[in-house]
Amino acid sequence: MPIPDLHQAEAIPAAARAEVDALLTSADLFRYTAPQDAPVSLLEQDFARMMGSTYALAVSSCSAALFLSLKALVLPRDAKVLIPGFTFAAVPSAVIHADCQPILCEVGENYRIDLDNFSAKLPDVDAVIVSHMRGHTSDMDAIMAMCDAAGTPVVEDAAHSLGTLWHGRKIGTLGRIGCFSFQSYKMVNAGEGGILITDDADLVARAVIMSGAYEHNWKKHPALHAACARWQNQLPLYNLRMSNLSAAVIRPQLPELPRRIADGLRNHDYVADRLSRSPLVEVPAPLPGETRAPDSIQFNLRGLSDAQIRQFADAASQAGVKVQVFGQSSDNARAFWNWQFIKDLPDLPRTRAMLMRACDVRLPVQLTTDQLDAVCDVVMAALSEVAPAQAA
Ligand SMILES: *Cc1c(COP(=O)(O)O)cnc(C)c1O
Repeated sequence: MPIPDLHQAEAIPAAARAEVDALLTSADLFRYTAPQDAPVSLLEQDFARMMGSTYALAVSSCSAALFLSLKALVLPRDAKVLIPGFTFAAVPSAVIHADCQPILCEVGENYRIDLDNFSAKLPDVDAVIVSHMRGHTSDMDAIMAMCDAAGTPVVEDAAHSLGTLWHGRKIGTLGRIGCFSFQSYKMVNAGEGGILITDDADLVARAVIMSGAYEHNWKKHPALHAACARWQNQLPLYNLRMSNLSAAVIRPQLPELPRRIADGLRNHDYVADRLSRSPLVEVPAPLPGETRAPDSIQFNLRGLSDAQIRQFADAASQAGVKVQVFGQSSDNARAFWNWQFIKDLPDLPRTRAMLMRACDVRLPVQLTTDQLDAVCDVVMAALSEVAPAQAA
């Protein structure tokens, strides 16, 4: 069985072709040209309905959605925004882009926010971004209770969590705003793209205008006329809109989501079960109440030196399976010490220890059981190669 390409996404549904073709003919690619029902507007309606949210705003990326969320919260300049120490560099970057300061909190070896460290830092911050990194959900009951009590707004970075449930509720609908990505490595693939959802009309009205609904283009957001009218000419225009072409590629993927989520979870659990048989591998369990929607697996290596961990990753990679160990390269964008654009970067010893042993393997949802076995075989063989006695 050949090793599958772990960076390949599922084919875009054929239904997208007719829509893209029509757009190429009409050349109507700008979301605000058509008087109504532009693909981007229809995507916003579909997505909001699917998530059970009142409003959705489609933009150019999840990073743009996070940036606009912070701007729409009207935080003062240099406001402090608490973020997890384990996330993608785009998150602290969005905070800095919004003229705010990222404050990092510790993350445990189960990839979830360390609640003691979070609660210790919460009193000093003006807003919180919870990154559900790789779809791992922190204890959202505890986080929302603490943030509600403190009156601190929560933005959910659900870039990689579309479809995850927390006690039956959709991740991304728990905080004031939820942000999602349509970049190719996420559950819905448009190459690039993002969307934010909220029930707060005034907040989303500000985001709509700042996303680039200049002049009276906000009139094409029918539910938001009164809210947007208040902000006319009051806000900068950052032009982070989504193109109709992206929306045409995204919309026919939404009905595929339940199947992708089910397949992703089945694949993840299959691989987790096989790899966990090695005494060297620990796959952290989901929290009670969390129903995951993974398209990758993370696991911690036990009892190996840093040198052995790097040899393991090299051996797997040579055999065709890219295993990323977050902390074991000089450029990984998910290792906080590489975010040197942050002033006075703190150390986070717990998060650092986790990142030095945590491995990441993509598992695109379309993989077959035979392909999953081929991936597991490579990982197990690489472990035996670097630690024959311990792997046995
Ligand atoms: C992918 C990702 C982002 C960034 O999304 P873009 O759409 O590429 O800007 C942010 N946060 C997390 C957790 C991600 O996985």
